[in-house]
Amino acid sequence: MTHPFDGVRPRHAICHHCGYQFGGLEIQGGEITCPECGRTTRFELVSRADELTRLRRRIRRRRRIVGGLAVLTLVVLLLLLLP
Ligand SMILES: [Zn+2]
Repeated sequence: MTHPFDGVRPRHAICHHCGYQFGGLEIQGGEITCPECGRTTRFELVSRADELTRLRRRIRRRRRIVGGLAVLTLVVLLLLLLP
């Protein structure tokens, strides 16, 4: 089955894994295999709303991780400082 993007050469696409700039490599089977790291980046149609939702979810996840680390650091400090 062919993918709707097959044959397309995106100019500004970058590798999802290492950030390598594909610079016009051709999409085959809906993906480009990175010449730098060898992993594949998949291309699909995404609406702007979906993209924003995904971005917000990622930001929320990062905040939770940072918050968790802050609490953990505080607990470790308290344990170290208590007699
Ligand atoms: Zn790569």
